[in-house]
Amino acid sequence: MSVRLSGLRRPSLIAGLLVAMWRAWPRLGGWPPFVGLVLCLLVGVLAGVVAGPVRAAEGAPRLLTVVIDDSYPPYVFRDQAGRLQGLRKDMWDLWSERTGIPVRLVGQDWAKAQAQIQAGQADVIDTLFETPQRQRVYDFGPAYDSVDVLIYFHEGLGGMDGRPESLRGFTIGVKEGDACIEHLSGQGLEAFRKYPSYEAVVDASAVGEVRVFCLDRPPANYFLSRKQMERAFRASPPLFVGQFHWAVRKGDAATRQLVQEGFARISPREVDEVRHRWLGAPIEPVGMRPYLRYGVYALLSMVLLALLLGAWSISLRRRVQSRTRDLSASLALLTDAKLDAERTLSQLHATLEAIPDLLFELDMDGRYVDYRANRKELLVTTPEHFLGRTLHEVMPAPAADLVMQALHEAAEHGSSVGVQICLPLAHGETWFELSVARKRMSGGVRDHFIVLSRDITDRKHAEQALARHGDELEKIVQERSRQLVEARDVSERASRAKSEFLSRMSHELRTPMNAILGFAQLIDLDPGSTPRGKAHVQEILRAGKHLLHLINDVLDLEQVESGRLTLTPQAIDLDELAREAVSLMQPLTEQQGVRLSMVGMAGLTVMADATRVRQVVLNLLSNAIKYNRPGGTVRLEAAEKGALYVRISVHDTGIGIAERHMGQLFQPFNRLGAEAGPIEGTGIGLSLCHRLVELMQGQMGVRSVEGQGSTFWVDLPRAVASPQAVRAEVGQSAMGPTLEGASPSPRMTTLLYVEDNPANLELMTQIVARHHGVTMISAPDGRSGLLLARAHRPDLILLDIHLPDIDGYAVLGQLRSDPDLQATPVIAVTANAMPMDVQRIRDAGFDDHVAKPIRVTHIDTLIHERLGTTLD
Ligand code: ADP
Repeated sequence: MSVRLSGLRRPSLIAGLLVAMWRAWPRLGGWPPFVGLVLCLLVGVLAGVVAGPVRAAEGAPRLLTVVIDDSYPPYVFRDQAGRLQGLRKDMWDLWSERTGIPVRLVGQDWAKAQAQIQAGQADVIDTLFETPQRQRVYDFGPAYDSVDVLIYFHEGLGGMDGRPESLRGFTIGVKEGDACIEHLSGQGLEAFRKYPSYEAVVDASAVGEVRVFCLDRPPANYFLSRKQMERAFRASPPLFVGQFHWAVRKGDAATRQLVQEGFARISPREVDEVRHRWLGAPIEPVGMRPYLRYGVYALLSMVLLALLLGAWSISLRRRVQSRTRDLSASLALLTDAKLDAERTLSQLHATLEAIPDLLFELDMDGRYVDYRANRKELLVTTPEHFLGRTLHEVMPAPAADLVMQALHEAAEHGSSVGVQICLPLAHGETWFELSVARKRMSGGVRDHFIVLSRDITDRKHAEQALARHGDELEKIVQERSRQLVEARDVSERASRAKSEFLSRMSHELRTPMNAILGFAQLIDLDPGSTPRGKAHVQEILRAGKHLLHLINDVLDLEQVESGRLTLTPQAIDLDELAREAVSLMQPLTEQQGVRLSMVGMAGLTVMADATRVRQVVLNLLSNAIKYNRPGGTVRLEAAEKGALYVRISVHDTGIGIAERHMGQLFQPFNRLGAEAGPIEGTGIGLSLCHRLVELMQGQMGVRSVEGQGSTFWVDLPRAVASPQAVRAEVGQSAMGPTLEGASPSPRMTTLLYVEDNPANLELMTQIVARHHGVTMISAPDGRSGLLLARAHRPDLILLDIHLPDIDGYAVLGQLRSDPDLQATPVIAVTANAMPMDVQRIRDAGFDDHVAKPIRVTHIDTLIHERLGTTLD
């Protein structure tokens, strides 16, 4: 037969879900809302699944007959009226209600009940423990309750603990068919007295039929209490825990499924209500759960608190350790610092001990507060007489005033040094030099001063002595200067007198020489003269010419040395000059038997004074011939020397000059030993040549090998040199300021130099003076410079940048805005030579610039380029 359970279709599923959620909700009320909701849903879904359409198995009964022990309070028992009551009765009622299948609950003696179902007179048996024997004849439903099974023994019996050994020898009262029998039999016990019900077991024990019985805890408690026998019996620890099941005959799967589905329709809440009704409280007390939860919470909180406390304790320990480390380090530093301080203090103490100076501490009023003196004899008075007193009470007023001044200065600036005072001490006047330092005081006390007083008496005396000596020295120097000036004046007067004398003598000598030579020539020319007479006249003429030559040389030398010799530079054709000189030397070469030649003269010109160049060349040639040997040679040669010079050389194959004489060459009247020889000479020629060459911006020198010959050379400025060549030469050569232009300036040009420094002005004056035809005018400041420029319209302006009134840039600006002067070349002369300064000068519009300190050759080149001048 197929049975479909009515009312358990899909609507029932949803209803079941809702009901399950509704019932589950209060139990989960303590959980967070979201978790509660999720759990409700889960419960609902499970309930819904269970409550889904159920199909009863084939062969399930239309009326369910359930046999049950009728004496197992509170699960099932009979009331006064003999009706069955109890927890399982209510559950089966609910089952019937849910399934719609009537239930016939048949209460029986337990043994009969089991026999009945086995006989097929009932479908289900309830309140049945599951045992191995029973498993062979029943199919069990799920356990719905746990029940302790205990051994109860009379209080007069000792040593009963439920273990099999303790029960041996006793007849154990049991309910017929009870699981207890199977359990104890398994333990080897066989002395049982069986009763039809639990109540019968308890009644038998009450009358002493049995003193030991095995009973489930709930009915035992129930019957012992009802019969007021609780104190007469004691209970062992649970023998075992039995679990209540309902069961069907072995193999009756349809009934089993039906029953199980029916119970699944009863909600846990309904089960709880039934249990509460009969057991007084649920087997698993719901009311305990919040406490349990709170307990768990409390436990968790305590664990958390313990963890926090642990963590805090660890962190605290670490902080304490770290702090301890820091403190140890600080302590070590402090100890080091203390040791340092002690060392410093001891060093300070030693230093103070070593200082010979006096140390005082004074307050603002100049009152002595403290002192330190290693040399007590330097104190004005004893410490007890100056400590607590003011300066004016201790020392003379002028000295006290000076010290007070030093204190005021230190109060204002922090320190004062250098004040000197003189004090009358026992051993005489003593000088002190003071160094005062302000000492800040704490606690509102006004500043104090540390005064270091150094005995400088010895130094003072030395200074005074030195000052005296200085005065004396000054007087001596003045006297010496006066004498030198006098000597110089005398010398100058003497020099002037010598010049005048020489000049006069020259004149006086020339006049008679004129007569002597004139008349000697006349005698020589007189045909009536005897040969002997002529020979005498020749001697007179030779000596006269020599004398005249000497007079001329001496006069020339005197003129050169006195600076009165005037030179007229001009371009000289060397070829022409050489030919003339060779021709003039012809008689001498013949006389000496020397061959004279000239080389490389063509096309070379020098800028020099023609007379003096000729004089130099003739002198060198005449020496080369004179100091030669018979059959020797003399070669006159000229060649370019760089872009600026021409070198004229005279080579001879003569006697040469000894090495030891080379240093004395060019000394006037020094003939280097030739005065002892037969060769005539005055010893003036070479020195005169040397001076003349220098005056013509040239140089002169010699190379000679004794016994082999000499080469005398003269470098003179070239007459023709391009400006480019000049620039290149100046850039390459470090030679002196020798520079020549192309030709002499045809007119006088004006150069304006604006410069406030007199030394610079003087230098420029000297430099410019060397340039032919240039007049230099100067102004000491910018405004005067402008006035001069407008008045004279110079051809070139050299302008210093740093001027006392307006700077060079401002001057240049005004020059450039003047129509008459805007084209005038302006060259900046400045000590600012940094690239940015040079750039600024260029940007300002200067035509060129010269850096200080100036290079003379640079100035020469600039002037030459701008004005076309030549050097003197
Ligand atoms: P001097 O009138 O004696 O020639 P100088 O001044 O011309 O005077 O020369 C000085 C000295 O230098 C000479 O006395 C001579 O000893 C030496 N001297 C000059 N030229 C030559 C030369 N070419 N060879 C050797 N000795 C020379």
